[in-house]
Amino acid sequence: MLFHDIHEECGVFGVYGHPEAANLTYLGLYALQHRGQEGAGICSSDGRHLHLDKSMGLVADIFSEKRLKKLPGHIAIGHNRYSTAGSSVLKNVQPIMANFALGPLAIAHNGNLVNAPELREELEKEGAIFQSTSDSEVIVHLIAHSKAGDFYDRVIHSVRQVSGAFSLLILREKELIAVRDAYGVRPLSLGQIDGAYVIASETCAFDLIGATYIRDVEPGEMLIIDEAGIKSMQPLTASRHASCIFEFIYFSRPDSYIFGGQNVNEMRKKFGAQLSRESDVDADLVIAVPDSGVPAAIGFAEESKLPFDFGLIRNHYIGRTFIEPKQSIRHFGVKIKLNPVRKLLEGKRIIVIDDSIVRGTTSKKIVKMLREGGGAKEVHIRISSPPTVGPCFYGIDTPTRQELIASSHNAEEIRRYITADTLVYLSLEGLKRIVPMSHNYCTACFDNNYPISFPGEHLEQMELFLK
Ligand code: AMP
Repeated sequence: MLFHDIHEECGVFGVYGHPEAANLTYLGLYALQHRGQEGAGICSSDGRHLHLDKSMGLVADIFSEKRLKKLPGHIAIGHNRYSTAGSSVLKNVQPIMANFALGPLAIAHNGNLVNAPELREELEKEGAIFQSTSDSEVIVHLIAHSKAGDFYDRVIHSVRQVSGAFSLLILREKELIAVRDAYGVRPLSLGQIDGAYVIASETCAFDLIGATYIRDVEPGEMLIIDEAGIKSMQPLTASRHASCIFEFIYFSRPDSYIFGGQNVNEMRKKFGAQLSRESDVDADLVIAVPDSGVPAAIGFAEESKLPFDFGLIRNHYIGRTFIEPKQSIRHFGVKIKLNPVRKLLEGKRIIVIDDSIVRGTTSKKIVKMLREGGGAKEVHIRISSPPTVGPCFYGIDTPTRQELIASSHNAEEIRRYITADTLVYLSLEGLKRIVPMSHNYCTACFDNNYPISFPGEHLEQMELFLK
């Protein structure tokens, strides 16, 4: 069953009604590059034909002026893909384009479908031939095979069959469609520029192109944008919303406004301040593991009235250590990525803020680096999220439960492993106190409370896919 590609974090961008649709999409993907660095693609429509270009690599390296010129039209969608090794192949890069009875279409999907393996098996029995191992392709085949009435009915019929997280864009010759799963797991926002509509995973994409944020695409909502304007439908409903809390902690960019217009930077600072209230210790200086730990460290320092400084310097020109395939390379990766500023740290008691501990590799290396290279007297690790105990099945790239150090070790055991003087995580109660309760969040990675069940699958079986 390993055909199923479960690791996907992505960024999507779409535009309707702008003469420079592909150029705007290129810029939008550029701003969303943090959501996926493995490959990217753009599909445009000139009203009669779809034009697709996609490659492995970073947005800026893939698209030249010449390549963008070959993507004409006033409608476009784009996708940044992030996945683990093994599925790192061009055929899995989106948008996925296909021709079926009602004409050509292209889709760009952010999230993970938990029942994709079953649906795929059924579709293959009916004769569907898949081009990729990406779960997103299931949606294309469901639309093509659907016996429901018109195109919109087919889309609705299809998205009602898939279970999991999807922030989805669909491009046809004359229209752009956006659908968000009923739980609202991944973010998706609607904006406007020069009378054209834009849709993006995060609002930082709007800032770059000068678009104005209008509102979120609501959980369960389907937007149809065409010549007649914008039409909203609510084809999907859930008993609760379950927006991914890890978007706030790590994944989204701090300048973005997500889940009802909440600023990510502000949220992270509040997590840091709450963490400070929960973890008193005598120290001289607060530093962050850059970049993801910086806002929480600033919030922590403000609340604890301790100075904040940049005690670790990050080399920005290498990939994320997390996605390196082998243990040996990952160990090396931390050293290559971060270097301590001895002048700031020597002889001091240091509080280090990071957003999360996954395997524990990064923290262990950092503690050693701060003591040996930095000359720190004491190293106190503070994590601006609760212990990561459960893998994510809804689109965040986490390793198996066995590899999550907090799934089998308590904070004291982890402290000993990473050789810190003290280690404190933000409490789950503290985290929940900070995020506004007007919204419901998925906190499965911290409490194993999975809001979207796995039809026909048990949790243990699901986890087998991650092995
Ligand atoms: P580890 O060394 O496995 O404990 O990884 C911890 C580091 O990975 C932290 O510094 C986090 O900022 C970062 N991190 C957490 N989740 C992810 C993710 N899904 N993708 C990439 N990096 C992550």
